[in-house]
Amino acid sequence: MGQKAKQVKGIRRVDNWINGEPSECSSDRYGDVFDSATGERCAEVAMSNESDVDKAIAAAAGAFPSWSRTPVLRRAQVMFKLKSLVERDRAEIAELITQEHGKVLHDADGSIQRGLEVVEFACGIPHLIKGEFNDQVGTGVDTYSMRQPVGVCAGITPFNFPAMVPMWMFPLAIATGNTFILKPSEKDPSCSLKWAELLAEAGLPPGVFNVVQGDHIAVNAILNDERVAAASFVGSTPVAEHVYKTASANGKRVQALGGAKNHLVVLPDADMDKAADALVGAGYGSAGERCMAISVIVAVGDSAEPLLEKLLPKIDVLKIGTGMDNNNDMGPLITAEHRDKVASYIDIGEQEGAQLVVDGRMHDVTNLPGYFLGPTLFDYATHDMRVYKEEIFGPVLTMIRVDTFDEAIQLVNDHEYGNGTSIFTRDGDAAREFSNNIEVGMVGVNVPIPVPLAFHSFGGWKRSLFGDMSIYGMEGVRFYTRLKTVTSRWPTGIRKGADFSMPTM
Ligand code: NAD
Repeated sequence: MGQKAKQVKGIRRVDNWINGEPSECSSDRYGDVFDSATGERCAEVAMSNESDVDKAIAAAAGAFPSWSRTPVLRRAQVMFKLKSLVERDRAEIAELITQEHGKVLHDADGSIQRGLEVVEFACGIPHLIKGEFNDQVGTGVDTYSMRQPVGVCAGITPFNFPAMVPMWMFPLAIATGNTFILKPSEKDPSCSLKWAELLAEAGLPPGVFNVVQGDHIAVNAILNDERVAAASFVGSTPVAEHVYKTASANGKRVQALGGAKNHLVVLPDADMDKAADALVGAGYGSAGERCMAISVIVAVGDSAEPLLEKLLPKIDVLKIGTGMDNNNDMGPLITAEHRDKVASYIDIGEQEGAQLVVDGRMHDVTNLPGYFLGPTLFDYATHDMRVYKEEIFGPVLTMIRVDTFDEAIQLVNDHEYGNGTSIFTRDGDAAREFSNNIEVGMVGVNVPIPVPLAFHSFGGWKRSLFGDMSIYGMEGVRFYTRLKTVTSRWPTGIRKGADFSMPTM
């Protein structure tokens, strides 16, 4: 995305939202936002500087004392209202996602649904935040615990889920009594302002939810500000590591979710038709731009040939085109730069000696004006190839053939990422062994994208997550609150009745 001096006319501008209202960014830096299906510039986005971030943090810090003391039922009511407003504007939000990100409308709508489920979970905050109580832990002594908000929280989010990933964060942060600053991806920033407007309409007081647009300058200003108590990050692994190190060195709570390379293991007894369906959806859906996308097929024993027999015809009939047409299965990639990077991995795989079975660079769709690439399939890749080791984040599936189940487990466990994985088999014992011994945070059994529902929590292992806690669910409630335990003894009071004698020591 190119950056340029502030433009005055002719194009929609995506700015900040601070203290309950739109706020013009003071910086002169702006970036372009593209319609990824047409390649046309559809907006420009502010690149906030330190003083914009300072303004947002001051608003969030100012709103915290009052919001954190607002009765929990009132905070829950804002979430109930938000839920109905998102349902009202769902189609509009999906179009916003599709225009800037490119994913097909039905997929965009599905991502709103998954985010909305976190809002629904947050509606139950009075129950979720309850503490514990013991009476008479000593004579006349009681102990109780409560969870209190941590203060100003920040969320830094990636381009691939402009609606859902912010919703993994702000509903629980706000419902637990914190104030929040969202720094969305500069590649598809418009949804962030929609959240701000809907939250204001839902009755959220000014300053509780703020948006600063921008890039690493805004992120670093957030991470280095001592008024920020906690940072949630979702994005690529190098940036996740940077965010984790900087925020934790500055004494903040931090959960930083990073990249992935998700393996789908196919045993010879699997239902090959179902495995192939799963691979097409999880490998090429959203053009492979999902952190839970399947990018590696591990074909065990003699499963490769029967699997390919089912898989290739399904790849052949994939419908690719603008995300605005719900008949399509797959849309464009996010930017021309990213499309070229993904295509360069196809060159790399060929040079490394993987067998190129389907070549997305040759697909008719690459002649369209947007950032399109066809589906790609490599076979006979090996564990030392870059196409296997690195996150490509595009519609590229890479197959590795192994002889045994144990080799498959070893392969997955040796990989630096540990976000998600799946096994397809009819054998319960193999599935159980796999689930128990695999070193990955989210595991699917005959389920290709095992994204936990809102009342569980989402998070990978190894270099897919930095920090101690996963995101949303009860892990989210704990992340956004700190525990206080009170031990109290009350001396005898008025219960004995009035005392009419002269008080003495
Ligand atoms: P990214 O890391 O480039 O950007 C994420 C956020 O960090 C953006 O808001 C961006 O502005 C900011 N940022 C970028 N460079 C920075 C820097 N040097 N210093 C500080 N901040 C910086 O990620 P992306 O390209 O937007 O998203 C794709 C990545 O996100 C993939 O790696 C994908 O696997 C990952 N992802 C992970 C999950 C998960 O749950 N683990 C979910 C979605 C996406």
